[in-house]
Amino acid sequence: MQTYSNLVNGKPVEATSHQEILNPATGDSLGLAAISSEQDVNDAVIAARNAQKDWSRVSDQERQETVARVAQVLQDNSEYLAELITREQGKPLSGPGSRFEVQACVGWTQVPAALALAPETVHEDEERKDVLHRVPLGVVAAIAPWNWPLMIAIWQIIPAIRMGNTVVLKPSEYTPIATLEMVRLINQVLPPGVLNTISGDGRIGAALTSHPDIDKIMFTGSEATGRRIIEASSRNLAPITLELGGNDPAIVVPGTDATAIAEGLFWGAFLNMGQTCACIKRLYVHENDYDSVIAALSDLARQMPIGDGMNENNLIGPLQNKMQYNKVKELVGDARSNGCDVMEFGDVPDTGYFLPVTLVGNIQDGQRLVDEEQFGPALPIVRYKNLDDAVASANSLSAALGASVWANSPEEAEPVAMRLEAGTVWINQHGAIHPMVPFGGNKASGYGVEFGLEGLKAVTQPRVISIKK
Ligand code: NDP
Repeated sequence: MQTYSNLVNGKPVEATSHQEILNPATGDSLGLAAISSEQDVNDAVIAARNAQKDWSRVSDQERQETVARVAQVLQDNSEYLAELITREQGKPLSGPGSRFEVQACVGWTQVPAALALAPETVHEDEERKDVLHRVPLGVVAAIAPWNWPLMIAIWQIIPAIRMGNTVVLKPSEYTPIATLEMVRLINQVLPPGVLNTISGDGRIGAALTSHPDIDKIMFTGSEATGRRIIEASSRNLAPITLELGGNDPAIVVPGTDATAIAEGLFWGAFLNMGQTCACIKRLYVHENDYDSVIAALSDLARQMPIGDGMNENNLIGPLQNKMQYNKVKELVGDARSNGCDVMEFGDVPDTGYFLPVTLVGNIQDGQRLVDEEQFGPALPIVRYKNLDDAVASANSLSAALGASVWANSPEEAEPVAMRLEAGTVWINQHGAIHPMVPFGGNKASGYGVEFGLEGLKAVTQPRVISIKK
């Protein structure tokens, strides 16, 4: 059976224990992934610390060129990595699936490679000049989740490396293999120690985030773990970028043409089988449009082929893990037992963590499927009578990552969008992130932003050079 190792200082680390990783669509074994010890965590942090001194002295242009070479390696290995993602994480090769994920990795590497943070003169008069420089923080701990295992790891590691930091990355214990392989490949063009990995469960993550020699934590995952990481950071005072879950609302403005928006709504909700932080997780539709929106979404849901994502015809794959599968089943079961209309679509294979595409009508705020983050292919559709009620519902939860407003024209949607509390409010699209556009949560969805120049600033610290004239 193939074994996948961590990489520290450019070399594979021999592990004393391993876990077997299974394909969520078929149950087939993919191989053994290393489990790190606390000693391994310490070794990885020391390697990153040692490498950071030289890496921070490399010229900005050289770092840009190195990151551009990383993008090329990702491109050259795109099909290999996409197949690994599909086998391990479950999202299909086709549609907005694993090939799409790898191309996003390429794009989110190319853009930071081309960006630079120039020194900024923040004040100047006859007596003085003050220039703000952005210098690296040091060693970045990156904790990645299992839903977009490569793309989110890239969001964390590339800006950090680009700005002269070094990284210790921990992939999720559910999806370590594709990430360890990606790191092995891109290490071919990075100096040893710039990008290191450890792997294992939350205890190993905690050993990393509480390590005294960490200077920054990048985390994407659940709110509960986010809170633990904040506590752990009291040991090292590391600033944190926290991208926690969302429970994104979408509001359809009264009178909107349902067929025109159905496809955007569908993929906004069911991208990666709903296992995406910024997916539509509750849909608010005016009572007069409710039937037509449900009919348009049902038409699409009926056409979606479900099955093993290695078959290029399939567009909907399994959930990634049993925990998530059980959670979604439980929330749909709760809605069913409370008398909601549970509409299920698609022929679900007998093996694997497959669930049908599910629309749930006749449901209200206060029910679990609306109020809790389902992170799966079950969309609650709530009727509203007037827009003010829909806005109040959308803003009523503590999660505030994304939101969207759907209308026949952007002008009609914009006043509603301005009233929604979320890090990003999309109009006639949802989850439409871009490597130049800052992305992050409000309220309980976290703090700090990723992407673009703001994302680069988040992995630096300001240093002012103040000159007396
Ligand atoms: P977690 O927040 O537990 O996992 C995210 C990452 O954090 C994983 O790498 C995990 O490791 C690691 N981790 C766990 N505990 C600690 C700790 N104490 N210190 C440092 N790192 C730690 O999410 P789950 O996988 O348990 O998923 C639960 C729910 O979270 C989902 O149902 C979904 O609602 C939400 N979620 C949101 C995501 C998003 O994109 N915003 C992504 C994933 C989940 P390991 O997996 O190895 O335990």
